[in-house]
Amino acid sequence: MPCERASALAGSWLAGALSTDERRLLVAHLAACSDCDADLRARLAARAGLASSEPSTGARARGPFATGVRGFGRFRGALLLACVGAVLLASFDQSRRASRLQSTTGAVHCEGRQIAAGDELSEGAIVGVPREARATFARGALRFEVEGPARVRAARRGFDLLSGTARVVGEGTIGTSRGALTCDEAVVDLVESAAGFELRCAEGVARLAAHETHQLVPGAHLRFVRASAVPLR
Ligand SMILES: [Zn+2]
Repeated sequence: MPCERASALAGSWLAGALSTDERRLLVAHLAACSDCDADLRARLAARAGLASSEPSTGARARGPFATGVRGFGRFRGALLLACVGAVLLASFDQSRRASRLQSTTGAVHCEGRQIAAGDELSEGAIVGVPREARATFARGALRFEVEGPARVRAARRGFDLLSGTARVVGEGTIGTSRGALTCDEAVVDLVESAAGFELRCAEGVARLAAHETHQLVPGAHLRFVRASAVPLR
């Protein structure tokens, strides 16, 4: 979904006119797009009458209660809107932490039922991406693009690649057969197959940690054939 569409949906949502499906699309977009997320937060803050007072870093976390009582009538109105805003922001924060299917081409299944873009995945849920299908998963600042045939598990801190070809974009942790891959604003390509596990770092820095740790920089290529580790570079 383009950002313009997300912005329009956010406007409808603020006006209280958004269907469940539209809300799902919006939440999925906000989970992956920090620009639109920041924009919606700013619009909520403006609505709550906070635009003219400069909240401190802590005030944003604590809400408008910390900004003091200046003109109680206005404050009371702002307070009401702020309470609504706080509840909504809490639900968005919650959804940002959730693991979800962000987009898909082709049918993608989880525990016997087809799932759709925007659906949240509970911890431990295994998603099957069939041949010819593609799926993008998201959690916070992590995007996980998978090409079928593949199997992905929603994990405690990110996703596990059980089998298949995938690209990790952003920041977060992916579980692999050779340990946890932690990415920091990175782009890393992975292949998990019966022959072994392979990864290439295209951008940023990442770390693969199990009984030994590999620091990955752009251009790094590691291949693990069956049980033996064969770092190529
Ligand atoms: Zn956006």
